[in-house]
Amino acid sequence: MVAVSGGKDSVTLLHILAKIEKAFPDVAMCVGTVDEGVRDYRDEALKIAEDNCRKLGIEHRVLSFKELFGYGLDEIVELTRKRGESGLTPCSYCGVLRRKALNTLARKAGVDKLVIAHSLDDETQTMLLNIVHGDPMRIARSKPVLDVIHPKFVRRVKPLCMVPEREIVFYAYLKKIQFQSIPCPYAQTALRNDIRTMLNRMEHKHAGTLFTIFNSIEKIRPALEASVAEVTLKECRLCGEPTVGDLCRACQLLQELGVV
Ligand SMILES: [Zn+2]
Repeated sequence: MVAVSGGKDSVTLLHILAKIEKAFPDVAMCVGTVDEGVRDYRDEALKIAEDNCRKLGIEHRVLSFKELFGYGLDEIVELTRKRGESGLTPCSYCGVLRRKALNTLARKAGVDKLVIAHSLDDETQTMLLNIVHGDPMRIARSKPVLDVIHPKFVRRVKPLCMVPEREIVFYAYLKKIQFQSIPCPYAQTALRNDIRTMLNRMEHKHAGTLFTIFNSIEKIRPALEASVAEVTLKECRLCGEPTVGDLCRACQLLQELGVV
């Protein structure tokens, strides 16, 4: 299953994989889209994802936050605004809930790989974000081909992790691939934006910075992995998804909002 949001990276990856797949008749491919429920943004993206799937003749599955959690992201943001204090951005909620939704969608489809279109830019941003957040050990858990640590997790793979975003955009324009170009209205709130701006400036002044950061992390990854204690996963008390604690992160967030 290719996770397609409708943005340039995922739609481009879908076109490339659809082309490659033709040479492998034993492989079946489908597309999964998560509808987070963001007004004036997600509808257009859904339509773009659908149109691309129709053109390529690929099955398209959609799962919404509303269906899975009972609330869309707009409603969740509204709830957090009413409650004040939490300190979490819409992107923090969305990241956790989308990850769970994508895994659920992939598992229900019965696929063995979930393909994520994270680019070199996304990966290096995430690595630095983990450091800025004071959680460097997370780096050990985020890699190009993820380990499957529980049978309920579908293996995530990131084939574009060493492809710079500008090359993906260039390919999309050359191939006249249709994608959504407006950014998510909530994206401005993320710390990730500041990291992106900083990295783009570095890359512009010192070409190759992104590759150097990515490769440096790959070099220290074995040491990081060796120092992370192995975790045994249980199943979430509320939803049954794999988790380290009693509740999975998604249920924890929803419980803090008083909706589960
Ligand atoms: Zn849960």
